[in-house]
Amino acid sequence: MREQEAPGGSLRAALASGEPTISFEFFPPKTDAGESALWQTIRRVEAVAPTFVSVTYGAGGSSRARTVQAVEGIAEQTTLRAVAHLTAVGHSVAELRSIIGRYADVGIRDVLALRGDPPGDPRGPWTPHRQGFSHAAELVQLVKECGEFSVGVAAFPELHPRSPDWDSEIRHFVAKCRAGADYAITQMFFDVEHYLRLRDRVAAAGCDTPIIPEIMPATNAAQIQRFAELSNATFPCGLTERLEAVRDDPGAAHRIGVEHATRMARRLLAEGAPGLHFITLNRSTAALEIYRNLDLPRGAVQSSKYRAAASAFAAA
Ligand code: FAD
Repeated sequence: MREQEAPGGSLRAALASGEPTISFEFFPPKTDAGESALWQTIRRVEAVAPTFVSVTYGAGGSSRARTVQAVEGIAEQTTLRAVAHLTAVGHSVAELRSIIGRYADVGIRDVLALRGDPPGDPRGPWTPHRQGFSHAAELVQLVKECGEFSVGVAAFPELHPRSPDWDSEIRHFVAKCRAGADYAITQMFFDVEHYLRLRDRVAAAGCDTPIIPEIMPATNAAQIQRFAELSNATFPCGLTERLEAVRDDPGAAHRIGVEHATRMARRLLAEGAPGLHFITLNRSTAALEIYRNLDLPRGAVQSSKYRAAASAFAAA
């Protein structure tokens, strides 16, 4: 196993520092052109020295191999900390152990442990692998048993689509955290209140695991609405109307999406969110624009000072 200190110390330490973490999410590309676009994006993102970047895990087959390839490429060829998403879908425990071991071999120490959805129809019935896991908490435990990993889990500001009620949602979320999760990243959402309510419910259950909000720039109404439906997120009417009004003007739609996401990100940081996780869809433009709009004093000024300034801005 290659010994390689992850860039900038452990993710747990970064979260404990009090300074907001900044991260960007990619997906494994399907084509050579997609691969080259991803790498251009990775290089642009690398220039702003984020806390970490993550790569999603596909539903099966070749896309999974491409996730492993992309994560290993980032770990070996960049200065970035790579977080590998991993799901329990269709894997035996032995297979999961072997993937985790392969990551460890190239110095990757960060895994986002997910249950995943049934391939083909994400809302279809969930059937675990005969020698696999039923829930994310079991995968969290396995990754922790495999070595010194920082482990993240998923959180759902508008309730997981399969959860019958908030009581069971919070109970199972807290169980994932108690199984060893160091942090959580949320599903996309477009109203800060949803994030705050989730955070307060988790805190009321006695759990202080940091919950990083996911920021999805809504620069294309049709596409975002489809994502939102799949993930259970509510898309605010006002935002839909504004985007619909500029349906034939992609530049204007981009500006509206970036402005909305920037406003959300500022409020989230002012409210004490531990960081921001940007969905890039393998393009850097909107995510980096939002990041730059925030004018974060990365590494230079204590985050409390930033939060005071952001609170003043949000209140203005
Ligand atoms: P779990 O925590 O297992 O929860 C699933 C459901 O089961 C919930 O309703 C929960 O309340 C319930 N539950 C949990 N434990 C128990 C229990 N013991 N008994 C009864 N019910 C229980 N999917 C991918 O395929 N690839 C990715 O890369 C990917 N990345 C993601 C990144 C983020 C930030 C998020 C938020 C989601 C991501 N997903 C990804 C989607 C995720 O896999 C699905 O949302 C999946 O349905 C739930 O995964 P989970 O890890 O939250 O599962």
